Amino acid sequence: MMNAPAHGMGTGPRSMAPHPVPQTDPSLAHLTGDAARLFKELEDLSKDKSGVSRASYGPGECRAFDMIEEFARSEGLHTSRDAAANLVIELEESAHDQEYILVGSHLDSVPQGGNYDGAAGVIAGLLCLVEMKRTGFKPEIPVRVIALRGEESAWFGACYLGSKALLGKLDESEQELTQRDDGRTLREHMADCGAEVSRIAAREKLIDTSRIKAFFELHIEQGPVMIARNLPVAAVTGIRGNIRHRRISCIGEAGHSGAVPRWLRHDAVFATSELITRIDDHWTTILQHGGDLVATCGILSTDPQHHAMSRIPGEVTLSFEARSQYEHTLAAIEALLHSECATITYERKVKFEFDRPVKTPPAVLDENLIERINNACMEEGLPVEAIPSGAGHDASLFANAGVPTGMIFVRNRNGSHNPEEDMEMDDFIRGISVLYRTITEFNL
Ligand SMILES: [Zn+2]
Repeated sequence: MMNAPAHGMGTGPRSMAPHPVPQTDPSLAHLTGDAARLFKELEDLSKDKSGVSRASYGPGECRAFDMIEEFARSEGLHTSRDAAANLVIELEESAHDQEYILVGSHLDSVPQGGNYDGAAGVIAGLLCLVEMKRTGFKPEIPVRVIALRGEESAWFGACYLGSKALLGKLDESEQELTQRDDGRTLREHMADCGAEVSRIAAREKLIDTSRIKAFFELHIEQGPVMIARNLPVAAVTGIRGNIRHRRISCIGEAGHSGAVPRWLRHDAVFATSELITRIDDHWTTILQHGGDLVATCGILSTDPQHHAMSRIPGEVTLSFEARSQYEHTLAAIEALLHSECATITYERKVKFEFDRPVKTPPAVLDENLIERINNACMEEGLPVEAIPSGAGHDASLFANAGVPTGMIFVRNRNGSHNPEEDMEMDDFIRGISVLYRTITEFNL
């Protein structure tokens, strides 16, 4: 269990005092101009009607790759493309058997998305190498920066394509997925970008993970916690996994709202409401015991063809999603969901039907790396508070492949996957400064 405070403890929202504003300048403040220019160029080459569009293994992403590669070369860095067509940047070409630190994120975006989701992590890694090159600093353990392809599921309906391909985890059916706009398969798009599709199809592992000493991903925070806490930079404790039911039906019996007494009712809405209240109580209990959980019923409705103010509702459909950093918490909430449904079935004379749950395992981030990131935050004069990631990231694939993995969040307003993403350049530079300290001091 991590030492992070549990956010939103209790039955209702509770405010936590924000941290004081940091008094020191970030150590890499001199890179502000470079960072702003890179983000601006990236935005210009991928502008859409609203926001930016950089399709996974598509034209926008390719333009972004070329631009980042060109800048890296102009700074005297060594670049190459790996067998999954991801972009790799180094201070100089390193020997194949050498151990290294890998820093990366993705360059694709959702359609009409924001400019920072993904790109911030690539530009952060790139600028760390630029700083090393310009100052002549050579780290003991070489640092490689990777721009990963296809992290967003919006284009092909599956996510982490570049890292999955690299780790030999892109399955046959995913390679046959078609792109939402042009209908061509992922395999064709990958081939266009220069990926070795036959090796990917053979599920060959294209990267030797035993040589990666650590993987770091810097990313904008996609939730509101860091804004609320006045926290410019944070280590991430873990990446939440989830259990999802797209459709649960609560089936009761329709009837006249005035004529059926309580003891003869089979009211699907009252039954569903009770279910949600009971889940909310369990959620509170889990948080009070220091656990990590978020739960959502994002879809909840009676059938508009049949519902009426004076009709006892015969059926409710709802979705259910729970996310946690801990596998045992996900298993517990799933078991509670079923036991509460069984009780309510008995008490309220309804029945529940479930579709098959879809499960994504959580990713545990390396405690030693979290501590290193926290120390770097302290050295930068920043408040230290680790927070969980509610959204999935490429980092989770490396963590689950056995690579010690750390993530750094940078404060960001308005969530992500929309043009209103808003990361302040000063926060970004603080993030890079923390990353730079973490990877360079790693060698000591
Ligand atoms: Zn992202």
